[in-house]
Amino acid sequence: MTPPCGARRQSCSSPAGAGGPVPARRSSATRPSPRRGWRSWAGDGPEPGGSGGAVSDSWDPVRYSRFKSERAAPFFDLLGLVRAVPNGSVADLGCGTGELTVAAHEHLGARRTLGVDSSAAMLDGAADQTTAGVTFANGDIAMFASAEPLDVVISNAALHWVEDHPAVLGRWTAALGQAGQLAVQVPANADHPAHVLARELAEEEPFRSALGGDPPLDPVLRVMRPEEYATILDGLGFAEQHVRLQVYGHRLASTSEVVEWVRGTSLTRFASRLPDELFGEYVDRYSSRLVDGSWPRRASEPRRAGRAAAVGGCAMLDPVTVVDEVSDLLQHLIRNACVNDGAPESGQEVRSTDLLASYLEGTGLDLERYEALPGRGNLVARIEGSDPTAPSLLLMGHADVVPVNAARWRRDPFGGELVDGEIWGRGAIDMLNETSGMAVAFKTLAAEGWRPRGTLIYLAVADEEALGTFGAEWMLREHPDAVRADYVLTESGGFEMPLPSRSGPKFPMMVGEKGTHWVKLRVRGTAGHGSMPFRSDNAVVKAADVVRRIAQFEPGTDISDTWRRFVTRADLPDDIARLLLDPGSLRSFVRDSDDIGVARMAHAATHTTFAPTIAHGGTKTNVIPDTVELTLDIRTLPGQTAQDIDQMLQQAIGDLADQVDVEAQSTDEATSSPVDTPMWDSMQRVTAGLRPGSTNVPFTTVGATDARFFRRAGSVAYGAGLFSDRISFADFASMFHGDDERIDQESLRLGVEFFEAVARDFLA
Ligand SMILES: [Zn+2]
Repeated sequence: MTPPCGARRQSCSSPAGAGGPVPARRSSATRPSPRRGWRSWAGDGPEPGGSGGAVSDSWDPVRYSRFKSERAAPFFDLLGLVRAVPNGSVADLGCGTGELTVAAHEHLGARRTLGVDSSAAMLDGAADQTTAGVTFANGDIAMFASAEPLDVVISNAALHWVEDHPAVLGRWTAALGQAGQLAVQVPANADHPAHVLARELAEEEPFRSALGGDPPLDPVLRVMRPEEYATILDGLGFAEQHVRLQVYGHRLASTSEVVEWVRGTSLTRFASRLPDELFGEYVDRYSSRLVDGSWPRRASEPRRAGRAAAVGGCAMLDPVTVVDEVSDLLQHLIRNACVNDGAPESGQEVRSTDLLASYLEGTGLDLERYEALPGRGNLVARIEGSDPTAPSLLLMGHADVVPVNAARWRRDPFGGELVDGEIWGRGAIDMLNETSGMAVAFKTLAAEGWRPRGTLIYLAVADEEALGTFGAEWMLREHPDAVRADYVLTESGGFEMPLPSRSGPKFPMMVGEKGTHWVKLRVRGTAGHGSMPFRSDNAVVKAADVVRRIAQFEPGTDISDTWRRFVTRADLPDDIARLLLDPGSLRSFVRDSDDIGVARMAHAATHTTFAPTIAHGGTKTNVIPDTVELTLDIRTLPGQTAQDIDQMLQQAIGDLADQVDVEAQSTDEATSSPVDTPMWDSMQRVTAGLRPGSTNVPFTTVGATDARFFRRAGSVAYGAGLFSDRISFADFASMFHGDDERIDQESLRLGVEFFEAVARDFLA
């Protein structure tokens, strides 16, 4: 970015811009005027300068030159605004290594050109530029004066290094003859993350102390708005001016390139004030923060306005859409790999709740962080409603994910790769997609200053993938005031079911969920020597039989009210509806259906399920094992108790039951919420708006979610969301806790819009 200005024609820019110059000066009678709108930097010492200021030799010409072509673009745009001055005289203030000084000299047809820079290191490089008529001098550009009137004063990316722009522009103007031209270009990227982060770090220890408690000013903060430069130039008597803001979007290959760029410019102010070792530490922390933690970070400008992607020097705006934003956030969450294997010290969700906090910062919201155990982070953000009696809404996502078997994945499960419009990684479906989508929706609302009638709360929790012990359950018990809400939306509804409906797409929204009953089975045998297995009492062999019996066990088919309501509202052809409502034909359907996703879902929705998931047994290759431990993941239907499940298990294991000890690990009964609520109606309106002609249908999710804690606490809780049709239902269903988990970007967009629109519709 850059702006600036000129004489006879002139221009300014602001985010990234080139500025240019101005035409003919008016009579010298016109005296400068108004310094209105000035920002005063009095009190901040002079800045080291690439071109301008006093401290120079933190400048490294080699590093600066790395992005030569990117840096040159604004210069040539600026030059394009200056009229040629055959045989004229030119000064290039802040000339750096001088290549562009020579280019200006030639372009303008000048007789002689003087390049001035405060950096001796830069000027050493300029010594190679030996074109006739071009000379270089070491000096302070802020105090530049000329013995004879010049035709052109040009300054590219240097003015921001000096203080008091009105005074400096006045001096430069005084060096011009009557028809002289002033052309200036400055960056306008003070609010870009690369700059914001640099300033924030300088306030952290040990840097702050090393800087004497007085970090050097970020020079781009001196850059004024284009209109202010126009006012100054007008006051200086320029008859013509071109003040403009030009955006230069540079796509660098990686974040480390961004760091390199900034090291060559903006960070030089720390290089000159910090000892080498400490500056190295500063750059390291800067890089890692830019790569993960504090990125993406954006001020509260409206979405789609474009995000300042990185750097200084000149611009770096690349357009950002909601898709980019939610994708970026999701990728970072995936890479945090908050894997919850059930151990209290696993998960370490604080990495992701910190990331989300940093993402939501700057919206003026209070963010509250809670940890049940070190590292088990939970984050709450809220937009307070204006009417305490209006119903409140909580959007809840979990930050943890389940473990992976990386060998079975086609891509890095924690790489967060974007491939052909899909983001890959553990959590892409369950449920970092929604955790990030809700955050983007929430931030959008907060950033625009939206004030709902009812309170909106965003909650990111730990430990959903185990038992919620350190997440939702703990929050509701220990900090109920922070999270209690009348309505709760969480995973995982809104994936179009491939049903032969007579009336448009059908999206299930989860109004209830099955219960969990986790048990450990200890299969007993008798130890012996592995060399004599005949007629031995081998616990592994017996466990194999137990597992097979459980896998083949067929519990009764349950046609519940929720199932019946789902089938009815799905508006299916009569024969299919009849089939799905009859226990016998439903069993045949799930056994024979080609659509494995639908078959599994329909089966789970109407049956108690038993999944053997862990087996441990044996101690040594030559020892017949006497014990095998099996873990079962059992999902229960509404109304079923632990006793009911035990009876089914005995029935499944049959005559081996007396050799198997059953130990309940945890039990959590099924929960459900009513369907006919104002929230249900809101969700229906929003879905129909985003996917025209569609209808929501109530469904019971077959997995457990944190919604159960909120239902028990009195909230109406739904599993909600909205997905595109890019990923098949079968793939979708198999990716939960499965391999090759991924999400398409259109679904990410729909998710953000769904949560944002529901909040507006329901709370406004
Ligand atoms: Zn989940």
